[in-house]
Amino acid sequence: MQIGAHALVFTGVFDEAGITLAIEKTKLAGFDLIEIPLMDPWTFDRHLAARLLREHDLAATASLGLNDSTDLTSSDPAVVAAGERMLEECLDIVHAMGGTRLCGVIYSAMKKYLQPATSAGRASSAAAINRLATRAEGLGIHLSLEVVNRYETNVINTGRGALEFLDEVGHTNVSVHLDTYHMNIEESDQFSPVLDVGDRLGYVHIGESHRGYLGSGTVDFDSFFRGLSRIGYDGPIVFESFSSAVVSAELSNTLGIWRNLWQDSDNLAAHANAFIRGQLRAVETIALH
Ligand code: MN
Repeated sequence: MQIGAHALVFTGVFDEAGITLAIEKTKLAGFDLIEIPLMDPWTFDRHLAARLLREHDLAATASLGLNDSTDLTSSDPAVVAAGERMLEECLDIVHAMGGTRLCGVIYSAMKKYLQPATSAGRASSAAAINRLATRAEGLGIHLSLEVVNRYETNVINTGRGALEFLDEVGHTNVSVHLDTYHMNIEESDQFSPVLDVGDRLGYVHIGESHRGYLGSGTVDFDSFFRGLSRIGYDGPIVFESFSSAVVSAELSNTLGIWRNLWQDSDNLAAHANAFIRGQLRAVETIALH
């Protein structure tokens, strides 16, 4: 099992200095893995990232949310094609970095929709994800679809909703990506969805209810980690936190990061690494009872 941190904990700018800082600090905080947001894959220096990851013995995953010009649920075939091109580029970047996972809101735009998803929009997205999953499989990369709250997509807002969509995608190289921050808004609790998703859970984000320090909000982490233990989950677990202290031109506004919930990335990250590993150790000992 790999424990990771989202790079936005450390930097919102992915130039040479930003990539270097994020990789060094993620390793320093004690994580095994860094999740790199590829909101702008066309400018991302994959070779620099690959070299630094090797030097720091750190694994990498990548994530992104699509936008209006790359939305796979769009009724405009040119927009869907642009989304597929962008995701194909992301797959190439993950491959170049030696990574094996691409996740996030890769099935629709990441935004507040003003109407429900249409059946044609869902079908368009499911077909595109199916094609991408085949391409990804050839590169040894697995896709996970992130379940997010109703203000960030109209396609999948719950774990069970994600299972329905996975059935529409119909490809074994695609799994569910759960995030405790979004679950806290949409799900009945933090335990049942983990059991419902079961062996189709492929990726996890750990975020607090206000996206700040773990343990300082209302997310029921005890139940969530018991759920992970119960299903024998051993995939990536990645800490995600956002503050106006670290600003990304692409992500901060989309996610509504208006407040400063922390200022010291190093302290936040070290705390999260210890918190997650502590929770995992605690549920591991349940087997001894
Ligand atoms: Mn997330």
